[in-house]
Amino acid sequence: MFSGVVSRGFATAGSNAGRANALPSLGRGFVAAGVVGGAATALWTQRAYMAAAPPVALSPSEFRKFKCVKVERLTANTNKYVFELPDGGVPGLTVASCLVCKVNIDGADVIRPYTPTTGDETPGSMELVVKVYDQGKVSKAFGELKVGGSMEMKGPFKKFEYKPNDKKEIGMVCGGSGITPMYQVIDAIVRNPADKTKVKLVFCNVTQEDIILKGQIDQWAQDPRVSVTYVLDKPPAGWQGGAGYLNQKMLGAWLPAPSPDNMVYVCGPPPMMNSVSGPKKSAAEQGELAGMLAAMGYSKEQVFKF
Ligand SMILES: Cc1cc2nc3c(=O)[nH]c(=O)nc-3n(C[C@H](O)[C@H](O)[C@H](O)COP(=O)(O)OP(=O)(O)OC[C@H]3O[C@@H](n4cnc5c(N)ncnc54)[C@H](O)[C@@H]3O)c2cc1C
Repeated sequence: MFSGVVSRGFATAGSNAGRANALPSLGRGFVAAGVVGGAATALWTQRAYMAAAPPVALSPSEFRKFKCVKVERLTANTNKYVFELPDGGVPGLTVASCLVCKVNIDGADVIRPYTPTTGDETPGSMELVVKVYDQGKVSKAFGELKVGGSMEMKGPFKKFEYKPNDKKEIGMVCGGSGITPMYQVIDAIVRNPADKTKVKLVFCNVTQEDIILKGQIDQWAQDPRVSVTYVLDKPPAGWQGGAGYLNQKMLGAWLPAPSPDNMVYVCGPPPMMNSVSGPKKSAAEQGELAGMLAAMGYSKEQVFKF
């Protein structure tokens, strides 16, 4: 791009090289090239960008099949799946978004939402972290998915638009695979040095071995903006984190205080949602705030249930 503009400038200068006013001509040539070149450069940049912009692989209006290229076991019941996005494509995600996966069981389509843990920063692939339930429908299909197999997906669907520096502190309470939407938001914050938002993550699991994505989370916890508390139902001897079921005292110590400057996200299995925030009314509706967060003085607007 830049060399094209410069070479045009020098070509003009070259045609004037033998003249007494070569230097001013050179100057004019540069100015002319600069003006014409500026417009051309803008056009070139736009075209080059359009040519270079990776295609968006997902569609929110139709299911598309994506090939699984890697399966990595994270815990006894949770795997990371890497899907190929054709032609170096990107998911086209904004934070925070999910997608839906569809499987056909005995002639009936079953659809469930999942949260990609990678976004447009990794063209050509996308990762999902999925907990497999033996009695589950779609998660069981994930459990049976092998490299070379495929999954039908549609999306992305925006849960809300995360805005850097909109809040001072964000508390996150999650359990098991409920970490995935939190993961998406923390990743966006940590990647953006201009985002001063502080994160206080409370991540609940049954045993230490159940903690998924711990390596990445521990790395994020080195960032002064991120603090992490792991809570285990069954802690091992000498465990330094939280232990037992969540209560108000724990949440009071680990979450940002109720304030319009702060926000709390919640995502986890139904019993946890019930006790922390009350259930979501439906996929699209938050419903009333209940549970411990309501008792602690958070307002409905200060809590988002994934
Ligand atoms: C917005 C959103 C994003 C999500 N993102 C992810 C994600 O990134 N990764 C992920 O693994 N899951 C995610 N989930 C959960 C996922 O959508 C499914 O609910 C889950 O995979 C179970 O679906 P299933 O069809 O296998 O089980 P279902 O057939 O729906 O349930 C059958 C049985 O499985 C068990 N079961 C199912 N879900 C739970 C649960 N949460 N806790 C305890 N037992 C359960 C129960 O025994 C239940 O009776 C997300 C959910 C939402 C709403």
